[in-house]
Amino acid sequence: MLIKTAEFVCSNTQVDKLPAPDKPEYAFIGRSNVGKSSLINAMTGRKALAKTSQKPGKTQLINHFVINDQWYLVDLPGYGFAQTSKKNRAEWEKFIRAYLTRRETLQCVFVLIDSRHEPQKIDLDFVYWLGENGLPFMLVFTKADKHSAVKADQHIAKFRRALKQWFEEIPPHFLTSSETKLGCDELLTAIAEINEN
Ligand code: GDP
Repeated sequence: MLIKTAEFVCSNTQVDKLPAPDKPEYAFIGRSNVGKSSLINAMTGRKALAKTSQKPGKTQLINHFVINDQWYLVDLPGYGFAQTSKKNRAEWEKFIRAYLTRRETLQCVFVLIDSRHEPQKIDLDFVYWLGENGLPFMLVFTKADKHSAVKADQHIAKFRRALKQWFEEIPPHFLTSSETKLGCDELLTAIAEINEN
């Protein structure tokens, strides 16, 4: 898919103030610092569409971007800030869960996972919750350029194995890098294919 236009639409703190559900929508989510903003910028070919390295504890926002006047790319607040309080975490969960379970135009949740790490409970728990709620998702492993392909493959295989206890079928995954743009075309192709169906 060629990105002709990519524009910021709005930031929301309330689920009932989202843009009208008039386009297919794709959400990007992951632990804070996983590389979500960098990947959104790399995919769309825009240097600063999504703001990188947001500070922990920052207001939690749902950011909508419209791509090619055709679909929404949604940047969701990151989870798992080490410093965050229980209260913040509970608020994050309520807010995100409300968005994910209520947004009828949501086509797919792209769950970002740092390819450098062994499977983390917080990521597995989130994917489990998506499955439990019947939400379509795909796995996006980030920062591939930071280590060897062998290591990334090992971590991906372990993550997929860990999910096998809960899922009969595990959706496809992507290995990506914002530095080299690895996987960006594949992600856009996956979105284009869903949009066509
Ligand atoms: P976010 O909090 O998930 O939005 O993460 P950011 O996009 O702000 O990235 C966090 C840090 O990781 C920043 O210092 C980025 O420059 C770095 N980073 C993100 N993606 C990549 C990548 O693919 N390769 C490399 N080498 N660094 C990355």
